[in-house]
Amino acid sequence: MTSTNQQISPAPLPGRVRTLVVGAGFAGLGTAIKLDENGFTDFLVVDKGSSVGGTWRDNTYPGAACDVPSQLYSFSFAPNPGWSRSFSPQPEIRAYLERTAEQSGVLDRFRFGVTVEDLTWDETAGLWTVSTDHGTVVADIVITGSGGLSEPKLPEIAGIDTFQGEVFHSARWNHDYDLAGKRVAVIGTGASSIQIVPEVAKQVAHLDVYQRTAPWVMPRKDRPYKGIERLGFRFVPFFQKAFRTGIYWGRECFVPGFVVNPKLAAPAVKLSLKNIADGISDPELRKAVTPNFQLGCKRVLISNDYYPALAQDHVDLVTDGIAEITPTGIVTQDGTTREVDAIVVATGFYTTEQPIAQHITGRDGRTLADAWRDSGMTAYKGTTISGFPNLFQIVGPNTGLGHSSMVFMIESQIAYILSALQKMGERELVSVEPRPEAQDAWNEDLQQRMQRTVWNTGGCASWYIDSHGRNTTLWPRTTYKFRSLLSDFDLDAYVVAGRQEQTAKTKENAA
Ligand code: NAP
Repeated sequence: MTSTNQQISPAPLPGRVRTLVVGAGFAGLGTAIKLDENGFTDFLVVDKGSSVGGTWRDNTYPGAACDVPSQLYSFSFAPNPGWSRSFSPQPEIRAYLERTAEQSGVLDRFRFGVTVEDLTWDETAGLWTVSTDHGTVVADIVITGSGGLSEPKLPEIAGIDTFQGEVFHSARWNHDYDLAGKRVAVIGTGASSIQIVPEVAKQVAHLDVYQRTAPWVMPRKDRPYKGIERLGFRFVPFFQKAFRTGIYWGRECFVPGFVVNPKLAAPAVKLSLKNIADGISDPELRKAVTPNFQLGCKRVLISNDYYPALAQDHVDLVTDGIAEITPTGIVTQDGTTREVDAIVVATGFYTTEQPIAQHITGRDGRTLADAWRDSGMTAYKGTTISGFPNLFQIVGPNTGLGHSSMVFMIESQIAYILSALQKMGERELVSVEPRPEAQDAWNEDLQQRMQRTVWNTGGCASWYIDSHGRNTTLWPRTTYKFRSLLSDFDLDAYVVAGRQEQTAKTKENAA
């Protein structure tokens, strides 16, 4: 896959910037564009990859596509009249992000191929020191947009390292390996797997799909846009806006089914069961793919071709747990060995422990991972964290969604951060950090709201819930509410330091 904004070897990093942004996906790119537009031009965006795109750069598996409608899955400030279908395939989203980056004029402040190693708050100087594999940058403000679903999680299956065939994760697809005519296993039946399975099934001699938990899969209302619609998107700006608004509010209507009463999702249950019946005729297989928890407890998936793919003669659904992997195959707990040439691991990502947290050291010399060890991930408004001044996380704790577009949440957080920077400038503030009591109250309210959601009560184990049993990933209200709560930077919830306090601190430490 080629990229238009690739830098083979990054230009030297500036030693000092006002704002450092980590990550060049939707979050980092959107932040850069809005910083620039609002006159905060002194920023640097670093990304370990070779282009913008984040998850849409990294997930190149066959069949990768978005399960949020195209019109809603773009920046509000950069509409794309060129979407070809109602649900966009990954290459179109990646191309959209690359084009938006090129057209925005901010790419001169992006450095690709740069891995952030550590971010340390220097209390005396009131600055972040950011070490990377290409040198150190000192910044007043750090904004992380490093993604909630970016670090692949490999399963801890005995013997996986001994397998002599090809093994790769869904988010690190090996395009050099030809699956044609091979015996292949796919482990996992989540959002990635159900897109991979129908595509891989077309190429391989035999496919085993290892299912630990049957997911809910609704029909996918995907279709190519008609010529007239595409003309409308391109030449009648209001048409595309109205389309997007209609989809947005339609999606908001799903919220009560998740957070108030799962019985409201009864029509979705009906549609999903019909999806099984339409795709599979064998009663045993139908039974095996029928979920045993409430719809919504795990992410609701959408596909028209997953069940028909499983029903094919050369595809087997394996529901016995995996006991071990040998050099040549997979052994299930009933003692059966299935020999394979390749294993696709579609087992998800680190979600409730952010890998970047171990590398961020705050005011008291504590890492973010330490700060979250006992409580699980917590933040104020999903964005700022007590003990970590001038740090803003996009897609931070409890900002995830099961029903609508993360781009909407990202833009809400960007607006909040811009409001913070504006107020810091107006009042000549050197640092801002949420008051612990404000953060605690925010999280108590969230966890209270979580109690009755289907994510907590629906009878499943999901990546939404952390090891303390707390849902630290999802937002339990409407996205509209999130946007209104983050519309203005609420300084009274923050401990702030002005220039005088900072100078006093510096002198005190020097004495
Ligand atoms: P996932 O939803 O976490 O699914 C992982 C799958 O692997 C589950 O079926 C899980 O089973 C299984 N699994 C994990 N460990 C296993 C083990 N040791 N043995 C057997 N099975 C194991 O991961 P994902 O499918 O990559 O999706 C992650 C998220 O990315 C999605 O929820 C979604 O938010 C996003 N995503 C979106 C799209 C899209 O827009 N189209 C596409 C892909 C991903 P259990 O259910 O039993 O845990």
